[in-house]
Amino acid sequence: MVAGWALWQAPAPVRILVLLVSAVAVGTSVGTAFLFPVTTTDLTRFAILAVCAVIAIELTRHIERRRVYGHSSSVAYIDTKAVWSFAAVIVLPPVFATLMVVLTYVLSWTRVQHERPGGLVYRWTFSGATVLCGTQAAVAVLALGMHSYPGAPATAGLDGLADLGIIVLAATLRWGLNVALIMAAIALSKPNIQARELFSNFGEQMLEAGAMGLGLVAAAIVVANPFVMPGIVIAMVALHRGILVNQYQQASRTDAKTGLSTAGWWHDFAEQALVRARDHGSTLGLLIVDLDHFKRLNDTFGHPHGDRVLKAVAEELIAEIRNEDACGRWGGEEFVVVLPDVGDRTNLRNVAERIRRRIQSVVVEPPAHLTQTGDATVTASVGGAVFPSPAINSLDELLLAADTALYAAKNAGRNTVRLSGADQPAGPSQQPLPHRAEPPSATS
Ligand code: GH3
Ligand code: MG
Ligand code: MG
Repeated sequence: MVAGWALWQAPAPVRILVLLVSAVAVGTSVGTAFLFPVTTTDLTRFAILAVCAVIAIELTRHIERRRVYGHSSSVAYIDTKAVWSFAAVIVLPPVFATLMVVLTYVLSWTRVQHERPGGLVYRWTFSGATVLCGTQAAVAVLALGMHSYPGAPATAGLDGLADLGIIVLAATLRWGLNVALIMAAIALSKPNIQARELFSNFGEQMLEAGAMGLGLVAAAIVVANPFVMPGIVIAMVALHRGILVNQYQQASRTDAKTGLSTAGWWHDFAEQALVRARDHGSTLGLLIVDLDHFKRLNDTFGHPHGDRVLKAVAEELIAEIRNEDACGRWGGEEFVVVLPDVGDRTNLRNVAERIRRRIQSVVVEPPAHLTQTGDATVTASVGGAVFPSPAINSLDELLLAADTALYAAKNAGRNTVRLSGADQPAGPSQQPLPHRAEPPSATS
């Protein structure tokens, strides 16, 4: 089994980092395990924390599963299990803190992570190993600084404040070490990743700080009155339901590659916008933007370059439209924009022209060794239609009209805007038209 591990296929620097961190994790965990004696009280407290952890992980596993599915492998995963393992670091001897990390990670793997597409044992093990390293660093800080370690923070005035400071230091160290190691691994396995992407969920990292904050509360409670512990479990489950489900919904309506709306979400939005336009007697504009000769661009400069172009084009689209408009990735290299209250065709044409020009000015540097290979200019053809227009009564008809106009723009030589209606040859086209009210299937 070990021979078949995906780890051996990972780039050498990643392999070295993973093995090194794992070795340090095991070494330090064993090293601290025998420093402090274990009492029966410790055993009881460990049991209470462990039961709470099991219940919380069990009750949140459906939400967690959805959360990890939507999770990009380019950002560090936020560990809300830190509540239990951080509480254990404070009140229990190191060996139990280690056991709590192992318990929550194994549990989370068997109940949540193993079904994740691309979920790899070695990645999860590495993630656990970074937490173990962070945990042992926290042990060192707490053992040196706390008035009575392991145990609850002191309750007397200044001593309590000093303990709090030490605990915050330990938490910061644990978190910082964990995040730094994970980011190093991601950066090593994806050398082209940009710092911005790596840090893109930094706001979310607050969640982990929150989990450790709750861990501190749990530590005090498990010593003072274990019967109050269910309060923490309820808080954790509610936190997942309240915050993380929203996060998941956000993820499911955002196209990962471009950050635009997904086709499904956009379609729902456009349907509602059409209903509103009909009810209020207002207008609705629709544009379909298709990049020109994108296949050639991919073939010349590689798929990753194509992906960067898609992202850059998406940013231009977002910058050009108003807040009330919605832009979606319809599929592959096709984008759709819906513009409530757009006014007349002239207005729509102006927006479409601005979009076309913006895309033309997009500059994404091709990989250095390919700069001589060909032209890296990006252009797009744009087809548009306005509701209401003769024979356009539904979103599907609006989409079809815009698609037909797009087809005309391509036939006219590309890098062009065409609107449905007067500036298009009347009557059915000679060539078969792409009849699509569905997004194109070539999304990758
Ligand atoms: P045209 O000017 O007629 O639109 O030519 P085209 O090559 O852009 O059109 P076509 O629809 O034949 O090809 C679209 C290409 O877009 C094919 C596919 O390889 C590429 N593509 C689709 N999705 C992605 C993606 O997510 N990333 C990258 N890099 N390429 C994609
Ligand atoms: Mg195209
Ligand atoms: Mg296309």
